[in-house]
Amino acid sequence: ALRVIPRDDHDVSRKLFSDAALKVLYRLHNAGFEAYLVGGSIRDSLLGKTPKDFDVATDATPEELRDLFRNSRIIGRRFRIVHVRFGREVIEVTTFRGRPGDDHGGQQSQQSQDGLLLRDNVWGNVEEDALRRDFTVNALYYNIADFSIHDWANGVRDIESRTLRLIGDPATRYREDPVRMLRAVRFAAKLDFDMDAATEAPIRELAPLLLQIPPARLFDEILKLFLAGHALDTFHALRHHGLFPMLFPEADEALQVLPWAEPLMERALANTDDRIRRDRPVTPAFLIGAILWPAVTLRHQALIDDGMPEVPALHSAAQQVVGRQLKHVSIPKRFSIPMREIWDLQMHMPKRHGKRAFQTLEHPRFRAAYDFLLLREEAGEIDPGLGTWWTAFQDADEHEQRRLLQKLG
Ligand code: ATP
Ligand code: MG
Repeated sequence: ALRVIPRDDHDVSRKLFSDAALKVLYRLHNAGFEAYLVGGSIRDSLLGKTPKDFDVATDATPEELRDLFRNSRIIGRRFRIVHVRFGREVIEVTTFRGRPGDDHGGQQSQQSQDGLLLRDNVWGNVEEDALRRDFTVNALYYNIADFSIHDWANGVRDIESRTLRLIGDPATRYREDPVRMLRAVRFAAKLDFDMDAATEAPIRELAPLLLQIPPARLFDEILKLFLAGHALDTFHALRHHGLFPMLFPEADEALQVLPWAEPLMERALANTDDRIRRDRPVTPAFLIGAILWPAVTLRHQALIDDGMPEVPALHSAAQQVVGRQLKHVSIPKRFSIPMREIWDLQMHMPKRHGKRAFQTLEHPRFRAAYDFLLLREEAGEIDPGLGTWWTAFQDADEHEQRRLLQKLG
């Protein structure tokens, strides 16, 4: 049932919202449409955090939105939304959705036999829109008409008790969209909420449904999972719920047989969290490189045992691991190319004679490869020593560099 919280009874002030978000809300309101801020911005505001991105829900259709905002475009097919751009900021505007399965004069949303929502572009009213959202805390609507908050699913109560609860029957909602299982893990880690028991229970059994999701959508989701500052917690939760093997099957197999694989991944994820906390840039190439590396070494060793030389064996091993990975989670070339360069350099770093150390040092990926080498030593994959040598070599003057090379004998 709807609970309306009037302006005087909540602390969510318009000062928390960007000018762009307010402009969109007011223009819709003045044109006679309903307009609400919804989702993360209201949830985070109630949690005392400053929201960073803004989602608007309205009864205006995508075509009406395009007429109203010159700076807008319709995106998505499975789920059509409108992006309204103000400089660098983009406001996502979504038309109210109806209930999946309801017949709106032949305009049904499309669902596969096992309940997967293939398309959801059937318009509805605000109540229907609220109930098709994923979590109760994401179904809070800030009404620009009177600054009240509309709570459709007891989201405020769940914010107060820090509970993540799916709206409706959890198994049905996960079948409609299995990515909601990843969103559950992500929000629990990010908000430091506990999952409600009924929300948590079906995940392990339904985890294999993720195999039906297009790899490109899963890649977007992986970035959100690992780049929100809680990558380490998220990794543990993904494994705990049986979701990790659906995303990284071969990495999961390597975790079962190589004792250093888990510390390697954990350190890479902890480094990522640390860099995000300190506002330093992070590259998914390094992180995904660490997750897949143990699997690469297993295939690499098998090829060497078959008599293949070390360097081509690494290329083949990398090719095989990445090839299988792309069937699950895609990795765009802008990340897979540097990732493979970081792996390649692992073969080059032990070889330092003549000009080789200088060539390696000049490589654009040297810094990442060096960090990767330290990670491997710390995780116990290889004995320490080489990392220390490179630490000294990269900071040394010419004279000292020559001395370090001579010491190699
Ligand atoms: P954040 O942006 O902080 O990650 P958010 O809650 O705003 O969190 P978005 O991915 O931006 O998350 O989605 C906006 C809103 O759209 C969500 O709050 C939720 O109400 C709804 N939503 C998004 N994805 C789904 C989904 N797969 N199923 C149901 N509702 C969804
Ligand atoms: Mg959002």
